[in-house]
Amino acid sequence: MMYHVKTSIKSLLSLPDEELGYILDMDGKAVREELEARLSQGELYIPATGCLGFDPVKGCPGHKSEIEGGKGNE
Ligand SMILES: [Zn+2]
Repeated sequence: MMYHVKTSIKSLLSLPDEELGYILDMDGKAVREELEARLSQGELYIPATGCLGFDPVKGCPGHKSEIEGGKGNE
């Protein structure tokens, strides 16, 4: 099993709008509003790309490593 990186919403909110927008390739202010809305609903993390069944409070549920299967080395 491997665990995807979970990104803390609080740590993202500590960044300036400009950097938020750069990281997520969106308008920084829109990103901040979205993150604040999620946080107020009790969410703590945002998922890594391709992380299915991600739990916004606990993070990655644990996935089988794709590297073990010998295909891909992401
Ligand atoms: Zn995952």
